[in-house]
Parts: sequence; structure tokens; C-alpha cells
Amino acid sequence: MKNYRPKGRLTSQEYINGILKGDRVLLSRAITIIESNLESDKILAKDIIQSVLPKSGKSIRIGITGVPGVGKSTFIEVFGKHLINQGKKVAILSIDPTSQRTKGSILGDKTRMEELANKEEAYIRPSASGDTLGGVANKTGETMLLCEAAGYNVILIETVGVGQSETAVHGMTDFFLLLMLSGAGDELQGIKKGIMEMADMLVINKADGDNIRNSELAKRQYQNALHIFSQSDSGWSPVVTTASAIKNTGIAEVWDEITKYRKLVSENGFFQKNRNQQQIQWMYNNINEALKDLFYGSKKIKNQLDKLEKEVVTTKISPVKAAQQIMDAFKKSFRNMT
Ligand code: GDP
Repeated sequence: MKNYRPKGRLTSQEYINGILKGDRVLLSRAITIIESNLESDKILAKDIIQSVLPKSGKSIRIGITGVPGVGKSTFIEVFGKHLINQGKKVAILSIDPTSQRTKGSILGDKTRMEELANKEEAYIRPSASGDTLGGVANKTGETMLLCEAAGYNVILIETVGVGQSETAVHGMTDFFLLLMLSGAGDELQGIKKGIMEMADMLVINKADGDNIRNSELAKRQYQNALHIFSQSDSGWSPVVTTASAIKNTGIAEVWDEITKYRKLVSENGFFQKNRNQQQIQWMYNNINEALKDLFYGSKKIKNQLDKLEKEVVTTKISPVKAAQQIMDAFKKSFRNMT
């Protein structure tokens, strides 16, 4: 499908050449094509992604999460500049599950990371919108591949710590960073245990001024709390530190820890093993979504489900039997299809 060109677009080869040269304008336009729901754009997007795939993957992918107000954008601004000073090229992407629900997003409303946005070595792209988290995650994952092919060697994927999106970000990154705040006495509240379990590093943020003492206290409490989690397959024990983006303290340490992590997991093989598993999982996520769409998208199934719902509530049929019945009908029509 080389050189496919729908109306109003360049050819796929032109986008590919632009991306590989690190042309930010063409990179942005290619991402817009990935985000588009037009059928012709979907064909073009597949062609572009497939061609740049061999050039992708050579980055460290870092997930960053924390509740709104924890200081994510301020942190990323300072952290991003630190990375650029280390000679890195940084892409910042976000997954924002609220963007389609509220039509404005938690992450996108404010002018964020202004200084970083003006740097040649940084590329910031707000969250794609979509009907499902799976759809948004797909688009962000593919955007990440294009950014890598364009030469960005640190990818930061940010999400708000309020729902399922952390799992999606964890599933597409190498290192997962959780930003937290110290709170008087309730250090372990507000963030779900499952998210803490995913974290490779916890940063107690806003550790400045009057907050330094509390932050140190919170750090110790979290260090103790993390001991209850079993050792992860990576061989890495999660670290807890404090930081202040405003005072620029603890920022370099975050990168030092990530560098240590990378060395460890590259040497013990976990880095590649984890990426391989993520690729496979990404494929299955898509298959699962497609199967659900196939099933629930069928008019026949829908009619039958309406009928079964009524029968289930009037105890005419047991829920288990009802499920069996509709699956039998589905299997029968599936067999006719194959
Ligand atoms: P986000 O919603 O997680 O992206 O949080 P923001 O980065 O927008 O920060 C929320 C508020 O916390 C803003 O008013 C920031 O100025 C403030 N803030 C961010 N980082 C720090 C920090 O290191 N120290 C202090 N004291 N305040 C901070």
C-alpha cells in the first residue's frame, strides 16, 4: 500500500520520510491521521505505522500518574528540562479518560508546560479523544511508536490517577512513576492499592517549605507500606523519594533511579521480556474488544438479550442458563460463518 494518498493528505511515504527525519510538523500531521476515524485515514495510518515500526522501540517509556493537583504538569516541566540537559529528546503524551466525558479534560484545560513546549527537544501532544479507553490507549500507543521513530528517546506518558487509565499506561511503559502528596496522618489514603502495587517509584511531591517534614514522614511510611507487596518479576524494589518541582529538588534523583532500573532490567532480561508481553497483550486487548463489538453489535443478539433480560428478572430462566442459551445461538451462527 506504499504511497497511498487519500484526498487532502500527503502520501504515506512522505509522512514516513518526514517522521524518520524528525520533522515535527509531519509528525504532528501523522498523529492526527492516527487519531482520525475516517476509513481512508485508517488505511494511511496503518501504512505509516507498519513502515516506521522497525525504527521504533529505542526509548525508555515512563508512565507518570497521580491525582489532579498533585503537581504532574509542574513536575514534568522541570523533569523534561532536566532530561533535555542530559542530551535527551523527550515526548510527552497523555491518556485522559475524562476528555470525552466532560468535553474538556482534566489534563488539557490549562496551559501546561509552557517552557518545555517551546523547546526544540520536546514534543508535547495532548490526549487523543475516543469513545473507549481501549481506543484512546491504541492511539496513544501508536503515537508513541511514531515519536520513537522520530528520534524521541524518552517517552513520558501521563495520566490522571482516577480510574482504569493507569492500568493502560502501565501496560505500555517500562517504568511507572506515582506522584503523591503527604497528608497529615492519612498517608495511605486517596490512592488505590492496586496503583501503588504497579509503581516502580513513588515520589512524595511538593516537599518544600512547611511541607518538608511531613514529606519525609510520608516517605518513611510508604517505604514501610511497600514492603507488604511481593517482589516484582523485574527484580527491582520500588523506591520512595521526595521532590519539589518548584525548588527543583529531588528531580535529578528520579532520573538516576530510572537509569539504575534500566540497567538492572536490561541485564536481567526483564526489559525485553516485559515489552514482548506488552506487545502480545496489546494484540489481545484489540481482539477482545473486537469480539465484544462483534457480539454486542449484532442486532439479532441485541433482540435476544432484551428478551432474556425480561426472562431473567421474572425468574423464568436462570442467569447462567440465559447466558448459555445466547452463547449457543452465537456459536451456531459463528459456525455458519466459518
Ligand atoms: P496536576 O494537576 O497534577 O498537573 O498539577 P499541577 O502541576 O497543575 O499543580 C497543581 C498546583 O500545585 C499548582 O498550583 C502548582 O503551582 C502547585 N505545585 C506544583 N508543584 C509544586 C511543588 O513542587 N511545590 C509546591 N509547593 N507546589 C507545587
